Amino acid sequence: MREKTMHGICFHHIDEDLGSEYDVAPTDLERFVRAVVDGGAVFLKPSTLAESFADPRIRLAEDAVCLIFDDGYRSTLEFAAPLMAKLGVVFGLAPATALLLDDQRPLAAPEGSRGFLSVDDLKLWTAVGGEILGHSHSHVALSALATSTVEHELDTELAIYAEHGLPAPELFVYPFGAHDERVRRAVAARYRGAFAGDCGSVAGPDHRFDLHRVTFRQKLLPGLLRLDWASLDLHTHE
Ligand SMILES: [Zn+2]
Repeated sequence: MREKTMHGICFHHIDEDLGSEYDVAPTDLERFVRAVVDGGAVFLKPSTLAESFADPRIRLAEDAVCLIFDDGYRSTLEFAAPLMAKLGVVFGLAPATALLLDDQRPLAAPEGSRGFLSVDDLKLWTAVGGEILGHSHSHVALSALATSTVEHELDTELAIYAEHGLPAPELFVYPFGAHDERVRRAVAARYRGAFAGDCGSVAGPDHRFDLHRVTFRQKLLPGLLRLDWASLDLHTHE
């Protein structure tokens, strides 16, 4: 069994004008990505992580970072996509499929005024090498739903990706990090691994449906720029 340290780090909206502690400025995002590249850590493609669960011959780097952009904000395409080409890295994007479709988007969409990607935008993301992770159709806490509704949430998003010729996501991100045994079983029947919340496990195929994911907040920025991973754990278990 390999126990490597893998840092799943999740960003939301990218904007110079910080409207929430979860927002990141484009310049700070680029500073962090450069810090990882210059600091000798490795950006792990979500697809490589997924493959490593099935093939023990794939050795993950000692200090690997998997960057995920949550929920599918339009700013992801505007600011994160160009960074991939500029710095030669690959990021994951975890949209909720209801937020991609004008006629499906709930009024209660998170940060609804900021603009979400469309299906065509998502095609542009994959065209420049970006990867897609599952994040459910409606973005609700799956552990609060009946098992059949959980399965419907997952099958709906997979059907939408298939219908639009987008690649089937191999990894999943639990909305709000919420999962239980039923949810993990439904996810395990459809994906090869899943990111949980801040208290998930840090690495290893035995924890592949409970992967650690730190949600970016402004107060974490200094530690991220120093690649001080211990400071992230300190701040997130509160
Ligand atoms: Zn989300």
